Amino acid sequence: MMLVNKIRVKESRLKKDQCDLARFGREENGGLMRPALSAVDREARRWFKDRMREAGLHVREDEAANLIGRLNPTQGPSDEPCVATGSHIDAVPHGGKFDGALGICAGLEVIRAIQESGIPIPCPIELLVFTDEEGGHFAGTFGSRAMFNLLSEGEIHRSKSDGQPSLAEDLRRAGKDPKLISQAVRSPAEFRAFLELHIEQGPLLDTMGVPVGIVEGIVGIDRYFIQVKGRPGHAGTIPMHLRDDALVKAARIITAVNDALLAAGSDIVGTIGEMKVYPGAFNIIPGIVDMYLDLRSRNESARLSMRNILQKIIDSVENARIELILSKPGVTMNPTIMQAIMESCEEQGTPFQRIFSGAGHDAMTFATLGIPTGMIFIPCLEGKSHCPEEDIHFEDAAVGTQILADTMMRIAASSL
Ligand SMILES: [Zn+2]
Repeated sequence: MMLVNKIRVKESRLKKDQCDLARFGREENGGLMRPALSAVDREARRWFKDRMREAGLHVREDEAANLIGRLNPTQGPSDEPCVATGSHIDAVPHGGKFDGALGICAGLEVIRAIQESGIPIPCPIELLVFTDEEGGHFAGTFGSRAMFNLLSEGEIHRSKSDGQPSLAEDLRRAGKDPKLISQAVRSPAEFRAFLELHIEQGPLLDTMGVPVGIVEGIVGIDRYFIQVKGRPGHAGTIPMHLRDDALVKAARIITAVNDALLAAGSDIVGTIGEMKVYPGAFNIIPGIVDMYLDLRSRNESARLSMRNILQKIIDSVENARIELILSKPGVTMNPTIMQAIMESCEEQGTPFQRIFSGAGHDAMTFATLGIPTGMIFIPCLEGKSHCPEEDIHFEDAAVGTQILADTMMRIAASSL
C-alpha cells in the first residue's frame, strides 16, 4: 500500500496543462475547433509531445499518428506488458475543451507524479494519444482501431463528404505514409491493462455531487451511412408533381427512423445529426442527400434487431441505400480493474458511483480485444458536452487523476 500512497498528483499542474492545451483551436465563445489532423490539431500534438518528453517519456508516433509515450521500468525487463492510459486530442466541431483532452493531461500528470515519487515501477507504463476518436474523417476511434488492426477495408481512403480530405490525405499531410498503416498494429499481449479517464458527458455525477464514476460498461454503437438519390433540377420551372426531391425523401426516412426508435422502447437511441445536400443551393431541387445515423444501446439484441427495421424503411424509399460503416458491440469493463479503482477510491476516501457510459471511447477498442480495461469518469457541469459550455471543477479532475495514478500503480504491482 505504501507504493500507492506516495504518489501525489498536483491539481495546479493538471490545470495548467489543460488550459495550455485548450489554446489550440479555441473559439471566442469558449468552444474548441480542433478537428483530427488539422493544422491546429497537429500544432497541439507537437506541443503535447514536448510535454511528454519533458516528463521523461520515450515518445514515438506510429503510422496512424498515434502518440505513444513510454516509461520503462528502472529495473527488470522492459518488454513486459505495459499498464497504459490515454485518450484523444481531437475534438468535435465547436466542441468543448475537456472531452479527450482531460484524459491525456491526466495521464501526463500521472507520469510526472510517478517520476517525482522516485518509486521504481515494476512494469512499463504508457501514455497514448489516439488519432481521430471523434470520427471527423469517417467512422471514429480511428487511432485505437488502427493500433489493433480493426480498420475496415478502404476506410482511410473515404471521406464524409465531397471535398473533405480522407484520413489517408490528412495522414500524408502529417508526414505519414498511409500505405504503411499496418505498421501501427500492435499485439493485445503488449498490454496488461488500459485505463481511460474522461468527463462523463452526461449529468449523473454532477447531479449526485460525486467526483468519480467507475464505468461498468459502454453501450454498443452502430453507425450507418444513408444515401438518397433524386433528380436535381430548376427550383422554378419543374412542377411539384414531376419532381424527385432527394431531401423530401430523406425527411421521410428521418421521421420513420425516429418513429421506429420511439416504438422500440427506452433501451435504444438513435440520431441523424449530420447531413449533406447536393448540389446544395436554394434554387436547385436536391439531387443527392448523404446522412449519418448513430445508433446506441446497452442491449445488444435491441441494436441488432434495428438493422432489419432500418433496411425496411430504406427499401420503402426509391433510390435510397444504407450502409453499416462501424459496428462496435457494447463492452463491459474488467471486474478486477473496477475493483482496483474502487479500492483506490476507498483508500483516498473518495466517494464514487458505478455508472454506464452512453458515449463511445477508445477504451472500447481495448475492452473488445479482451485487454483488461477500466474507465474513470469525472463530472462535467450540468452534463454539458460536445458544446462550448462543456466545463468541469478542477478539484474533481485532480481527484480523478489521483485515483487514476493509484489504480495504475496498484495494477502495475499486482499479478493481473
Ligand atoms: Zn472523448
